[in-house]
Amino acid sequence: MERFTDEALVLSCVDYGEADRLVTLFTRAHGRLTAFAAGARKSKRRFAGALEAGTWLKAQLVERRGDTLRLDGVDVLRSYHHLREELPRIARALYSLELCRELLRDHEPHEALFDALRGYLELLEERQAGPTSLLKFELDALQHTGFRPRFAPCALCGGPTGARPLFDPEHGGVVCEGCAPRVPRGVPVSASLVDALARLQAGERTPLPAELRARARQLLNTFIAHHLGRRLKSVDFMEQVGTD
Ligand SMILES: [Zn+2]
Repeated sequence: MERFTDEALVLSCVDYGEADRLVTLFTRAHGRLTAFAAGARKSKRRFAGALEAGTWLKAQLVERRGDTLRLDGVDVLRSYHHLREELPRIARALYSLELCRELLRDHEPHEALFDALRGYLELLEERQAGPTSLLKFELDALQHTGFRPRFAPCALCGGPTGARPLFDPEHGGVVCEGCAPRVPRGVPVSASLVDALARLQAGERTPLPAELRARARQLLNTFIAHHLGRRLKSVDFMEQVGTD
């Protein structure tokens, strides 16, 4: 039996049985972990509402060979309760958490992504994160987990992507017009969208206009769904709430 403590963000929680919960955590040093929180729905003292998606905490965990991890106790570092006051911010937070949960693998640490996610939740909490920040966060998350989309140069020939590029998730991103015959499933995209995403990926922080953001959202949804094999549920929630 091994006991350890790690900083963690709660990615999601599901009720289990009468009184327990299964908690999926993004821990700083151990990556994604799922732990069993016995009595979490009854013991207010031990978990005190801390097991909400997005909460940043210090988790006390117990690992037993061949068994599910046990969450013994938590200390809340920040609960981000302000961001839970508005649906658009809740939707963005849930999206960023679901994206990380699906991109990560168990026991594979990603400290840079952990810090990026925590930083993003912090911005949401402080009302500093608009829709462009979410696009930037997604691009960072994809990069940290080895799924970086290529916006320039052409993903196939390495040349300039030109005025009539195509986007093909299967080939990792944008390809030039000359390579179009090699990507029958490539979808035409505007050069301005490719340019905007390349700049965002490179670290530029200028907010994108709504029309460009909508097309960037479509493109990233397609890319992410292709690599994960399914569309993220929180994409639908963002659409219902009317936010991006
Ligand atoms: Zn090419």
